[in-house]
Amino acid sequence: MPKKIVAGNWKMNLNASDANALISALEKKQNTLDVEVMAFPPSLFISGLSKEKIRIGVQNFYSKDKGAYTGEISILQAKSVGASIGLIGHSERRSLFGETNELLKDKVDAALSQGFSFIFCCGEPLEVREAGKENEFVKKQLEESLFHLSEEEMKGCVIAYEPVWAIGTGRTATSEQAENMHKEIRSWIAEEYKKEVAETVSILYGGSCKPSNARELFACPNVDGGLIGGASLNVEDFSSIINSFE
Ligand code: PEP
Repeated sequence: MPKKIVAGNWKMNLNASDANALISALEKKQNTLDVEVMAFPPSLFISGLSKEKIRIGVQNFYSKDKGAYTGEISILQAKSVGASIGLIGHSERRSLFGETNELLKDKVDAALSQGFSFIFCCGEPLEVREAGKENEFVKKQLEESLFHLSEEEMKGCVIAYEPVWAIGTGRTATSEQAENMHKEIRSWIAEEYKKEVAETVSILYGGSCKPSNARELFACPNVDGGLIGGASLNVEDFSSIINSFE
């Protein structure tokens, strides 16, 4: 059974004291549901944040351990401030910072070799969806960055399906569109590995998920939670999304 997860991607928002206040408020709201809650704040703030009830991760990291890579952070550095997980392949990293499937594969390998968990993000841009080619596009992202893993490595991986046209646009995928893609992703994993492996992988939905649509999305059999951008910056909205599993 895949783990239920709700993760907040704060992107380049908030300052240090806002970040502290948000984590404290979220900790107070924490619930008894069997849902793992994660937050991905700007890395600068991670060392100062409580990690008691919410798993803290980095929005990005580089695949090398150290060296002349100005502006980048390594997994070892992320771990040293208490991060235990990282996002890989968010669409903003792909589109604004030119991250390719090949570079993301290196990050996946680096994370595995350092025992660092990750959420692997995939998803198609609007023109690909309009051309009806979303399945092959997403499958290629997985094949080129993730499907080289061994069966053991693939077990328990977390994937976030985030259609690019739904991120930060207010235009959410319908629960049918999300379920169809999640079901495809699970079937590709089953084909590449086996059904038992596919059933351990949590597949999260991301893209304008909010309190008003989370319940319907999370009720889909293959949607194991959400990666939440904008709505994760508001404590009431984020808690309401977490509680949508009720
Ligand atoms: C995201 O950035 O991963 C995301 C899903 O953003 P939003 O919820 O704001 O669409």
